[in-house]
Amino acid sequence: MSVSEHELPAHQQKPARLGKPAAALRPVGTGRPKISFVLPVFNEADNLSKLHAELCTAMDPVDCDLELIFVNDGSTDDSLPRLLALRDLDRRIVVLDLARNYGQQVAITAGLDAATGNAVIVMDADLQDPPAVSVQLIDKWRQGYDVAYAQRRTRQDNWFKKATANIFYRLLHRLADVDIPRNTGDFRILDRRVVEELKKFEEKDRFLRGMVSYVGFSQTAVPFDRPERYAGTSHYSLRKLVKVASDGFLGFSTFPLTLISRVGYAVALLSVVGVLYVLVQKLFFPQLLVAGWAFIVISVLFVGGLQLIMLGLLGSYTGRIYRQVQNRPLYCLKGHHPAGTPEGR
Ligand code: UDP
Ligand code: MG
Repeated sequence: MSVSEHELPAHQQKPARLGKPAAALRPVGTGRPKISFVLPVFNEADNLSKLHAELCTAMDPVDCDLELIFVNDGSTDDSLPRLLALRDLDRRIVVLDLARNYGQQVAITAGLDAATGNAVIVMDADLQDPPAVSVQLIDKWRQGYDVAYAQRRTRQDNWFKKATANIFYRLLHRLADVDIPRNTGDFRILDRRVVEELKKFEEKDRFLRGMVSYVGFSQTAVPFDRPERYAGTSHYSLRKLVKVASDGFLGFSTFPLTLISRVGYAVALLSVVGVLYVLVQKLFFPQLLVAGWAFIVISVLFVGGLQLIMLGLLGSYTGRIYRQVQNRPLYCLKGHHPAGTPEGR
């Protein structure tokens, strides 16, 4: 049975960042909804049993079927045997074992491809994404949101990680062509429709947060305080962080390309300033003129500027080729209301 939105408590009526939910309560067919968890695992041996226990405790009161997909991303520790041992205890567990370490984004993609639930929750395996918050995500999904992302209110990482993350999210928010919410990781719930749309993305350098924003649908945030990881240390070296950051910028912004021609115009403009400067000098202070100086400086600025403008032009074409090659779906349909059938019948 569906309940119209004005009947919901005030806190549930908050409009989504990217649109309102289609229905106030999600119809999930006659049976219990099935929720799939996708958990990328890279050397998390000491976190797995605690994660599993906390997840089970948190999900126990929730009326749904569960599928727990652990994606072993080429771990070199005991993660795989421990996962298989857990799987013997809990038949809801699926273990995908990737042939090597492909990185978190690819591991999540493998999990999304395998998930069969009505909704999928993507979650880190180090307990930095608290299982209890996933219950709130499910609540939002039940209210009709297609995506609910967990948004960090606070985080317990070291100052370096906090500072770089802060700069990254600010820049990305400003520059990206789609609205990528700040302070969110991959911890989120995705409705089946969104998962199906994400499967159409063939790009190799994947930045799932951006892809989810690109897809659209009704999205909302669930704020949470991010704890420290339970065991071990972060697997993100500076090199890996730079890779993720550049996948975000380069995949969702053409700003670096437009920057080339902007710099070109600025440099070319400088040559005009140079011409004016020389004219003023020639007219009013001819004794200060050094022979040949003006010609060399002005031509260097002018030709340099011209080259950058042309490079920017090439960049614009490259940007178009890039978007073509990414081959993203041009649009995603949220619904289809065919002609001749009145709504509600
Ligand atoms: N992870 C992965 N492959 C990698 C690196 C990380 O599957 O190459 C997983 C890791 O096991 C964890 C999640 O991605 O479940 C987040 O990684 P991490 O905690 O190291 O990142 P941080 O929280 O420091 O950003
Ligand atoms: Mg972590």
